[in-house]
Amino acid sequence: MLQVHEGQCGLCTHFGEDHTPNGILTQIRSTKEAKEDFIDDCGHPRHSSLHLKVTAVSGCDGFEPVKH
Ligand code: SF4
Repeated sequence: MLQVHEGQCGLCTHFGEDHTPNGILTQIRSTKEAKEDFIDDCGHPRHSSLHLKVTAVSGCDGFEPVKH
């Protein structure tokens, strides 16, 4: 498992935002840990048309924290 830090996709509101939240995303956000090979779509408006796939520990300047 990888540690997911603030500023990384696993804690970003755009991570997987184009589909219904699932248990894995909820788990990553609460435990701040993710499997090395877990990837999901980035739904940021500037990436979504490109169907960018990112890991939970990827990141970019478009990071926005998940609102609880
Ligand atoms: S690539 Fe950037 S905008 Fe997309 S999920 Fe990761 S941090 Fe968020």
